[in-house]
Amino acid sequence: MNKLSRAAIAALCALSVGYGAQAAEADNRNGPSGNGGNNLLIAAAAWKQTAAEYRALYHQAFNLARMRLDQALAARKPGDKPLAVITDIDDTVLNAVNYWGYLIQKDRDFFDDAIWDKWIPENKLTATPGALDFFNYAKSQGVEVFYVSSRDQGDKTYEYALGNLRAVGFPYVDEKHVTILRDSSNKEPRQKEIAAQYEVVLLLGDNLNDFQRKYYVKNVDERARLMEEDRELFGRKFILMPNPTDGHWMRAIFGDSEPPATDRNREIFKKAASKSAWRPAP
Ligand SMILES: [Mg+2]
Repeated sequence: MNKLSRAAIAALCALSVGYGAQAAEADNRNGPSGNGGNNLLIAAAAWKQTAAEYRALYHQAFNLARMRLDQALAARKPGDKPLAVITDIDDTVLNAVNYWGYLIQKDRDFFDDAIWDKWIPENKLTATPGALDFFNYAKSQGVEVFYVSSRDQGDKTYEYALGNLRAVGFPYVDEKHVTILRDSSNKEPRQKEIAAQYEVVLLLGDNLNDFQRKYYVKNVDERARLMEEDRELFGRKFILMPNPTDGHWMRAIFGDSEPPATDRNREIFKKAASKSAWRPAP
């Protein structure tokens, strides 16, 4: 979680206190709706844990990325800027599925930042399917990879991120190629710096915000509309990975990327899941 998200949650908690009766909701992590079979996170976590389709989507993404990279390599002319790929880290090249498994075991049904911050330094992340092959291929072709991520685990945030990437053997894990934004989720300033020196062939991410900041809006329908404007870029310049547990799609529902585990938010989530619903004839 970054500092802005923390500030947003603090503001939400303060609001809850201000409304008296809602104050108790602010820390209802194991509330009645969050336990056992009613846990709203179970389907998404089970899919990440078990579905071959989930893993295949990463292969599909990296196979497509390689195809696009080969096309860019073939089109290069003398004097062109060197090629580069910009990638997000979490849920794009690193998989956090055992973190989600722990949350389910503990009957948590929302992202838990305190557990995440404790879990990150343990290097329990694994490479997403196909990621190592793709990035090693890029390196073999002289294409540099830049990692740009938003994370905040305090003073050791950067050290932990380098450790996570090195633990699974990714190339280009050094200060030039790894940027960790602690205070913002806006990746565009760093993307522009890289684009000034390189021809950025591909952007890889699990969140639309990994591609362009313009998608950072809180309205579900507006976010979808902005994405549709750029439909031709998906699979061409933007390579999107699957993530049904977290991301700014949650922010569009709750107004916060990491909403507090409250019964009110459980109701909001159920409402989102039934945004369109069949109404049988009486
Ligand atoms: Mg991510």
